[in-house]
Amino acid sequence: MQELAPDVWQLHGTPQHAINVFLIGDVLIDAATRWSTRRILRQICGRSISRLVLTHCHPDHQGAAAALCGGLSLPLECHALDVPAMEGLEPMQPDSWLLWCSRQLYAGPPYRVSRQLKHGDEIAGFQVLHAPGHTPGEIILFRESDRVAIAGDVVNSMSLITLRPGLHEPPACFTADVAQNRRSIQMLADLEPSLLCVGHGPPWRDPQRLKEFASRLR
Ligand SMILES: [Zn+2]
Ligand SMILES: [Zn+2]
Repeated sequence: MQELAPDVWQLHGTPQHAINVFLIGDVLIDAATRWSTRRILRQICGRSISRLVLTHCHPDHQGAAAALCGGLSLPLECHALDVPAMEGLEPMQPDSWLLWCSRQLYAGPPYRVSRQLKHGDEIAGFQVLHAPGHTPGEIILFRESDRVAIAGDVVNSMSLITLRPGLHEPPACFTADVAQNRRSIQMLADLEPSLLCVGHGPPWRDPQRLKEFASRLR
């Protein structure tokens, strides 16, 4: 894995940056797809991990959650509004045919959430910011001291078709409320993150271009 900032690592993947998993301190952030269990276990081997936090409950972020949490006895945490989807009590959002297909291909089984996160909680020196829209319980993790943000799928930093770096909204067909997500993109841009880590795409170190991107969506 690669250290992007003090105590912030990005795990390797194939292709690199396509589906990202991060480690902040001893907290694992996201769990990619259900096919990713071995690549994650291989990279965190020898490290003591305290818990798994999901930026949101989608098949490409919760896929290995049950296997990792069950296998390593890790508590699972996500925002309260994504808990019903993670525990299999309600469908993931948006409740669409495309997301259903994605679930068949990539999702892991439901798993019990140990702690429901809310806006203002603290995780390994990062603050939890509720950033709904892509899913109802999407969160941004923000460390003010060096302005590092981990933002799940609020934005993508590459094209999901060509894999070329660049800022994009997450696909509307996988987003519960596009207008609400645009407000979350604006909130993210207002943080002026010096380092932005997202679920899909390389680390983004250009807060000015993020601001311009957000203002074009208004
Ligand atoms: Zn997503
Ligand atoms: Zn995603």
